[in-house]
Amino acid sequence: LGGCTANVEVQPIIDSTNSELMRRLQTDAPLYSGSVLVAEMQQAGRGRRGRVWQSPFGANLYFSYFWRLDDSLQAAMGVSIAVGLAVYDTLKALYQLDIELKWPNDIYLNREKLAGVLVELDGQPQGPCQLVIGIGINLHMPESASQHIDQAWTDLSQHVQGLDKNKLVAYLCFYLEKRLAQYQQSGLNDMYLQWNQLNAFAGECVELNTGHRSWRGICEGIDNQGGVRIRQDGEVKSYYGGEISLRKA
Ligand code: ATP
Repeated sequence: LGGCTANVEVQPIIDSTNSELMRRLQTDAPLYSGSVLVAEMQQAGRGRRGRVWQSPFGANLYFSYFWRLDDSLQAAMGVSIAVGLAVYDTLKALYQLDIELKWPNDIYLNREKLAGVLVELDGQPQGPCQLVIGIGINLHMPESASQHIDQAWTDLSQHVQGLDKNKLVAYLCFYLEKRLAQYQQSGLNDMYLQWNQLNAFAGECVELNTGHRSWRGICEGIDNQGGVRIRQDGEVKSYYGGEISLRKA
């Protein structure tokens, strides 16, 4: 893991590791790319659109990574795709696991949700932007917390032995740094085809939902901007943006 420059801080209990790094952006204390915050427990762990991320004490990994992108907010759109691949690299290297990815930001193992990614941005439409990349990975999910998860889930303890949280953090930092550097250099051009090979819903009928409207189509993977390609009535259209959820129809 040579060359990794991440600096990891560990807190026992926090509201949300993403919220804490976003707050620090508003203070004078400088954050530099590779600043990482890990907590043992989150009291207000978040998914997208205000959904709750179950974060019981000591059980799982709650991890946020700060990164400055020398590009506009528009260019940051595909970051969660690159982050999904970094999680893939990590779990493949450490445990030989083959995860599947669900657009735009979920990580599955045998169709059960193992981890989630939440990328939050701060910046101007033009000029550099700052990203807080949250990653939650289930390690040992206690029964008490799992009762509140309203979809199929899994944790690493069901698939691998000898889990080592410190090692997991180190590998994650290493692969994030690699994938984000690749993203900074060439966007998703060298990554979107690999992502498509890991697409959990390749060729399947899916339902897209904005909260106001839902529609169905066949999931054809992503394009090189990170948009999901959906075939409907013989036509393929790409959809972008963080407000769309995708589920198996
Ligand atoms: P999408 O991101 O596509 O909108 P999603 O419903 O999976 O779909 P997220 O915001 O990524 O949404 O994650 C929050 C959801 O994940 C929760 O509503 C719950 O169903 C599930 N969930 C919450 N905590 C966990 C956890 N620790 N492990 C697995 N799944 C969880």
